[in-house]
Amino acid sequence: MDFQSILQFFSTISLSSTAIYTSSTIIVCAVLIIALERIFPYKTQEFFREGFFGDLFWYTLVQSYVLSILIFDVLIQWLDSASGLGRLQIVTNWPIWVQLVFFVLVHDCYIYWFHRFQHKNKYLWRIHEAHHSVKDIDWLAGSRSHSLEILVNQTIEFAPMVLLGAPIEVIAWKGVIDATTGMFIHCNIDVRTGWLKYIINGPELHRWHHAHDKDAIDHNFSTKFAFWDYMFGTAFFPQRERKPIGYGLVRALEFPKNYFKQHLYAFRKHERAK
Ligand SMILES: [Zn+2]
Ligand SMILES: [Zn+2]
Repeated sequence: MDFQSILQFFSTISLSSTAIYTSSTIIVCAVLIIALERIFPYKTQEFFREGFFGDLFWYTLVQSYVLSILIFDVLIQWLDSASGLGRLQIVTNWPIWVQLVFFVLVHDCYIYWFHRFQHKNKYLWRIHEAHHSVKDIDWLAGSRSHSLEILVNQTIEFAPMVLLGAPIEVIAWKGVIDATTGMFIHCNIDVRTGWLKYIINGPELHRWHHAHDKDAIDHNFSTKFAFWDYMFGTAFFPQRERKPIGYGLVRALEFPKNYFKQHLYAFRKHERAK
């Protein structure tokens, strides 16, 4: 065994151990959140709620697998080889935790504004609508997002990381943070985080983003940090006793149940203004 192959051997070990740690973290968090939803539910609802299997199979497994290949192995790889930026390794030597904090914070600010814009712009709303179509918000609800929305957002999220030279561990753990916070902010747990809710986003705030209530509409655009909503005046947190009258799209009956039809629905004709 020459030195090169020893190095290669160790690099595959560390890569696969990262994959093992990251995927088991996601599974452990999912199990924990599901258990807490049973013990401290916010709202009484079925575990196998409408759209559960589609969200799990099509959105969580198939779509994220196919898109990760398209985003990382095609789009970002092309951007990287065309620009040659990754070779400069601009952030590679920063401590891992500094890179993670930096990328999480910068991306979270971007996604706050992009998300807010998606609610304003009628074309961008079309690719965000699917996310708002879930009628019972739970640990899995966050996974329902149109593939074009994911394609745009995850390319914008991960391309800078690759181009700035972030190692695979940072990219993988950023993915874990995305997955676990996504489950957390949508979970059906009666979470009460006290003063922390001004910093960390959670279901207390995000469920109102999915609510039908007129006064809640166009509020709580934050994903990971709640302070963007407080800073930019879009936070909505009514009295604790009040609960949303319902979740989902106002015209929910029209939204298709089938994964492929849900995708095509984004391209329907725009109605003329009355
Ligand atoms: Zn939204
Ligand atoms: Zn959501």
